Formats: sequence, structure tokens, C-alpha cells
Amino acid sequence: MTKTGTLLTQHPTDQPSTSRHAIVIGAGLAGATTARALAEQHWTVTVLDPQGIAAGASGNLAGVVYSTASPHLTPQNRFYQTSYRHALRWLHHYGFPSSDQDGQLNGVIQHFVNDKQRDKFTAAMDSGAWPADLLRPALAGNGVELVGGGYLRPDRWCRHLLNHPAITLLDDSVTSLQEGSPASVTLDKGTRLHANAVIVCAAGASQQLPGLGWLPLKHIRGQVSYCQATEASRQWQQAQCHGGYLTPALDDLHCVGATFNLHDSQPAPTDADDADNLAQLKHYLPGHWQALGGEAIIIQDRRVAFRCQSLDFVPLCGPLPVATDNPHRAATGLYLNLAHGSRGITGTPLCADLLASKITGQPLPVDAQLVDALDPSRFIVRKRKRQPEWKP
Ligand SMILES: Cc1cc2nc3c(=O)[nH]c(=O)nc-3n(C[C@H](O)[C@H](O)[C@H](O)COP(=O)(O)OP(=O)(O)OC[C@H]3O[C@@H](n4cnc5c(N)ncnc54)[C@H](O)[C@@H]3O)c2cc1C
Repeated sequence: MTKTGTLLTQHPTDQPSTSRHAIVIGAGLAGATTARALAEQHWTVTVLDPQGIAAGASGNLAGVVYSTASPHLTPQNRFYQTSYRHALRWLHHYGFPSSDQDGQLNGVIQHFVNDKQRDKFTAAMDSGAWPADLLRPALAGNGVELVGGGYLRPDRWCRHLLNHPAITLLDDSVTSLQEGSPASVTLDKGTRLHANAVIVCAAGASQQLPGLGWLPLKHIRGQVSYCQATEASRQWQQAQCHGGYLTPALDDLHCVGATFNLHDSQPAPTDADDADNLAQLKHYLPGHWQALGGEAIIIQDRRVAFRCQSLDFVPLCGPLPVATDNPHRAATGLYLNLAHGSRGITGTPLCADLLASKITGQPLPVDAQLVDALDPSRFIVRKRKRQPEWKP
């Protein structure tokens, strides 16, 4: 076994050491939470990621812990609320952030960007669907406060979760999956690793694995601008959401974000996207824009990443469906935890606990309606309604 949080270049063993061994593909928020949930159930876990911890969408300097409120408790909206509560429980349980260098859970201010949003949030509060311990009117301005939310460094949160004696991190890329008891993965070096459960947490790149090209995923480019703090802005304590978001300073930098481009696969940052981020800040929060320097705001750095979104805005979390006449037939030992969209910090702990409970045979943390809403086979069922012969 290895010291956790460091990358091994050689495999301690190609065979599982116990009958409770899992392989997690990807070391972002989905992979780190899944690995930790399984380790807490006394499984040994091997996490595979050639890029190391949080190199994809989970690697921004800061992210906001927040959700969207609605008076309509559809499965989608129930997932947003339940996962928000669950994420706050995880963060408190695991003691993160432990210092304001890693973030704070001191509430998020959501400024209303239009009447429709104001009406939706107000109805969510008035109907009781979102109780006052989660959502209340903001003290100042035209908005609400998401109680207990905040901002944090997602890469450090991932590292914190992976720092467990039962978790080993390897810098390998997975090239294919094989179902079975045990299931297995093939690595780019040709080696095969076996495990009782394999969980794919590789976000949009999962589609490149053989047999997973059918996954209904959208890739949405986002650029975040890291702006130099000023004397005035260093006093800010709470994350502010509008059309985008603004976080308090970390390393003397504020995250101003983020762009949202569906049909753009350009990995390099652009000046135009920085300009869009600042224009949005100026439009919705002119006082903050001014305090940050106005036209003289200094952008010290920026980062591009790709969100992975499902077609119905709910993650894919559950057994991997396979090509048979039965859309509910799942591949033995293979699971997905993907498509956390713009809310990966919020959504991943609940999905991790759901998968770990399924895999280890523990009671599930959500009801059957939410299990179905998250089940990847829902897309096959829907597609079959339109095209009865279709198979993944
Ligand atoms: C600009 C931007 C701003 C955002 N802001 C917020 C925010 O404020 N709050 C919030 O909650 N969310 C935010 N998000 C969304 C959040 O970042 C994502 O939902 C989350 O990071 C998804 O985590 P993940 O683990 O699924 O994917 P990723 O973090 O992308 O991780 C996938 C990992 O899989 C690995 N991988 C890929 N292929 C393979 C393979 N074949 N073998 C092994 N490993 C592989 C990759 O190297 C990568 O590390 C933002 C996203 C963007 C782009």
C-alpha cells in the first residue's frame, strides 16, 4: 500500500487483496467522494487517474457550494435539495474547510437576475418546499441566502477525501472495462486489474471507453478568471452568485466566473472569456466590480475546464446498463457516477453514498423515486419509447 495522496507508478498487485475491493476511474470530485464512501464501508479502493487529483473540472481555485431552489418537488428538484443537505453534512463530518485558506461555509448570497428567478425562489420559501434552515431572504439587496453553503477549494477537498489508509491512487489511464465477478479494467500499459466493483467517474471522457459512446452527455466549456484582490475586496466573506459567481479571496485571488459554452471545445483560455466574466460581474454586481478595480481589474490567471452534463440535468449514478432486450439489465460489477454539471461539489457526496450503499448492500440513502431519477438506464428506457429496437 502507498501513502495516500501521492501517485504510484507501479501497481502493488494486479489482483484484489480482499473480496471487498473497488476500482474508481477518475480522481475528481466524483471519484474522490466515491472512493471515500467505499473506504468508510471498509472496502479497499484503487483510484486510477493519469492526471492525478482534481486535474479536470474539479481543479478550479474555488467553487461554490450551492443549489437551485424550486417550489416544485420533482425528482430533479428533490435531488438538488437532498444533495445540498447531504453535501453540507459531509463537509461538516469530514471537517472541511478547516481553515479559511480552504474556504468557508458561511452562506451564499444568490442575487436575483430576473423576475422569473425571484418568483421561483420566493415561491420555494413561501411554499415551505425550501425551509428556513436552507433558504432565507438575504439581509441586503434583492436576493436570498443559501444557508450553510459557501465556497471551497475543490482540489483540496478531493485530496482531503482521498487521504485514507484504504485508498490507493495510481497514475494509470483506463482503456477498457470488463464486466464480471470480479469485474476488471485494462490499463493503457496493457495490465489488467480486477475488483469486485468498478466505478466510472471520468466525466465526459467516459464516452471514450469502448461501449460507453452511447452515454447521453453534453460537454460545456467554462472559463473562470482569477482576479487580484484589493484592500476593499479582501474584506468580502461570502460567495455571491448572480448570472455567474464571485468568491472571497483565496491566495489573494477572487474567482470570477464562469463562461458557459456548449459548442466550444477550445481548451486554451481566451481574453474574450475574461471580458465576458467581468462584463457579467459589472452588470449584476456593479459595486463589487468597482471595489475590485473597475476598468483596472487585474486578471492574474484563468482556467478552462469542461462540465459534463446529462440531458435531463440529473447525474448518471447507478449500475452500467448493457446491450440486451432488457433495458434494466446491468453489467455485473460496473457502475457509473457522472454528469455532475455545474454543481459537482453539491451533488457528488449523495451519489457516492448511494453507490457505496448499492455496492455493499447497505440501506440506500434516498427513496426509490430518486434512485430511478439517477439510474443511467432511464435514458435507454426513454430512447426505446421512441426507437423500440435501439440498444446501447
Ligand atoms: C468553469 C467551471 C466552474 C464550476 N463551478 C462550480 C461551482 O462553483 N460549484 C460546483 O459545485 N461545481 C462547479 N463546477 C462543476 C464541477 O467542477 C464539476 O461538476 C465537477 O468537477 C465534476 O467532477 P467529476 O469528478 O465528475 O469530473 P472531473 O473533475 O472532470 O474528473 C474526471 C477525472 O477523470 C479522469 N479521467 C478521464 N479519463 C480517464 C481514464 N480513461 N482513466 C482514468 N481517469 C480518467 C480525468 O483525468 C479527471 O481527473 C464548475 C465547472 C466548471 C467547468
